[in-house]
Amino acid sequence: MIKNKTKMPVQDPDIRNNNFLEVALGYDLKLAKIEASRCLDCKNPRCVPACPVNIDIPKFIKEIENDELDEAYFTITRSNILPSICGRVCPQEKQCEQACIVGIKYEPVSIGALERFVGDYALKKQLNTIENIKDLPYRVAIVGSGPAGLSAAASLRRMGYIVDVYEALHEFGGVLKYGIPDFRLPKDIVDKEIDNTKKLGVKFHKNVIIGMSLTIEQLFNEYNYKAIFIGSGAGLPKSLGIPGENLAGIYYANEFLTRVNLMKANRFPETPTPVKIGQNVAIVGGGNVAIDAARTAKRLGAKNVFIIYRRDMSSLPARREEIDHAIEEHIDFHLLLNPVEFIDDSYQVKQVKCEIMELGEMDDSGRRRPVGTGKYKTFEIDSCIISIGQSPNPILKNVTPNLKVDSKGRIIVNNYQTSIPGVFAGGDVVSGAATVILAMGAGKKTAIAIDNYIKEKVEK
Ligand code: FAD
Ligand code: SF4
Repeated sequence: MIKNKTKMPVQDPDIRNNNFLEVALGYDLKLAKIEASRCLDCKNPRCVPACPVNIDIPKFIKEIENDELDEAYFTITRSNILPSICGRVCPQEKQCEQACIVGIKYEPVSIGALERFVGDYALKKQLNTIENIKDLPYRVAIVGSGPAGLSAAASLRRMGYIVDVYEALHEFGGVLKYGIPDFRLPKDIVDKEIDNTKKLGVKFHKNVIIGMSLTIEQLFNEYNYKAIFIGSGAGLPKSLGIPGENLAGIYYANEFLTRVNLMKANRFPETPTPVKIGQNVAIVGGGNVAIDAARTAKRLGAKNVFIIYRRDMSSLPARREEIDHAIEEHIDFHLLLNPVEFIDDSYQVKQVKCEIMELGEMDDSGRRRPVGTGKYKTFEIDSCIISIGQSPNPILKNVTPNLKVDSKGRIIVNNYQTSIPGVFAGGDVVSGAATVILAMGAGKKTAIAIDNYIKEKVEK
């Protein structure tokens, strides 16, 4: 038995922190087969229930081992329409790989890397899922083209529904497109996997904000949709609420990443949208979004990029792999610090003052609570990117008063249905900021609930 995971080749850290090309380069067939041979093909595989969309993991891994790569692709896409995306960005270490039996004694099977290998093989070969769809006479509208919307759309289309996806932005994919940077998830991969959903017959409409361009009522009454799925995500950034937060040079991570990912600010002046960050950039927060912002700032040419986080290294919520990659790329971590004030020179941020923290009792999240010490430390900065969380955008709620949300603006659902009959919701807009695969799992389960609803309430 090979004890360790087969290493995936990566770009050299000192080269990659100057470019936006993908960091991890993927397995070739030889490496994939070596890694596949580590799977025990368990009778009761613990990896499958640990996957939010229940991919038949041992089956597709065995198919790789047997050189049956087309079959491996069909096995995965029966449960997950976006394997190249999920293979790259899912937190497998907390899901399928955490449950893998091999992991009890050695390193678990690299399930994510194998999924990515199969997805990329299929994209190169232009393989499509084989479908035999029998059309039903019912229309369903999907609000948002992120992972939740895409997964709900594909599942409903496969059941035979006529499905339209409405997206507020000018590109499809949600966070996959505007949030996660190219060096982790190249945008042509996202486009190609979305194309597979289009090939199922799902229709996509861009630049349509449901709640502004069209209302829920119009979708039902004028467009004759029998059900609506809201997968509008959690794109509204949280603020620190400290003095100086509106100074020039202060960004929220979503805006900063959107400027680079969607508006290609890294190519300014070739593109019209600039992003000015200077040489010393502070990032506030410790999640995946903060790490993405830090690594993006480094690639834009900043000399000193550092994370400010109020707990210790072991409490960082970001994926371990991303933290390690950031350290290799010379991102610094200033821990146990909490920003309390931004200080300016002629309205341009120049310093961030932080309180030094220490860890106290456990809090509700199971981590030790950061407690202020009354001592302070100040950093010289040219810009700061705030990344302390997101909540759902209130646009839709504001024009749809009977849509019930909780105190954090998340849509309340009961068995995937909202307070409005026939309107369902899933993904970050229900759970708050979470993960791609949880959003996809929610989309898939909600599709079943919509199918049941239409069969019970509409057909009768
Ligand atoms: P979203 O992806 O947010 O998609 C919602 C879509 O709805 C958007 O396109 C939005 O424009 C559209 N929309 C909103 N309102 C309307 C409206 N009124 N009308 C029409 N359209 C509307 N997760 C991981 O698993 N791994 C990672 O590595 C990872 N990294 C991340 C990095 C960043 C920078 C960010 C921000 C998030 C990251 N996540 C990661 C989280 C993950 O991307 C989200 O949990 C996931 O995308 C949620 O999917 P969703 O479909 O619910 O929402
Ligand atoms: Fe293979 Fe691990 Fe799943 Fe067992 S638990 S089938 S070893 S991937």
